[in-house]
Amino acid sequence: MSDCIFCKIIQGVLPKYKVYEDEDVVAFLDIHPVSVGHTLVVPKKHYLDLVNAPPEVAANLMAITQKIAPSIMEAVGATAFNLALNNGAQAGQVVNHVHLHIIPRFADDGLRLWPAKEVKPTELEDTVKKIRTLVV
Ligand code: AMP
Ligand code: ZN
Repeated sequence: MSDCIFCKIIQGVLPKYKVYEDEDVVAFLDIHPVSVGHTLVVPKKHYLDLVNAPPEVAANLMAITQKIAPSIMEAVGATAFNLALNNGAQAGQVVNHVHLHIIPRFADDGLRLWPAKEVKPTELEDTVKKIRTLVV
């Protein structure tokens, strides 16, 4: 994709802080990190998002994450990490080339996950019915 920033990074047109590379995947530091060591795991082929990527590509992103996340944590002294994927604009996806975020975490780093809601069991029942009729 000619106008995709990650394709340009993969092609070497734009610079990157490369953490890992193989035939299919490249991982590089996020230029606006949530925490030190924040790494993006990106397939070399362009796919819009998770749903539009072949299952084997999605599975490989996870496999590479398993491989490199412990080294990233060790390098920056993290004790944990969050794995994030923003799927679609309303979920915060800005770069339309599927990628995983490895976000190293530290004790008392002050980062918060999403706020959870209180819901009635009937709401959960309604929701699960709607989903189940569509999931095959
Ligand atoms: P997302 O919001 O899930 O699409 O994430 C896109 C991420 O790409 C953001 O966290 C950006 O900071 C990051 N990003 C954008 N341009 C670059 C770049 N040239 N090199 C590294 N990371 C980038
Ligand atoms: Zn791309």
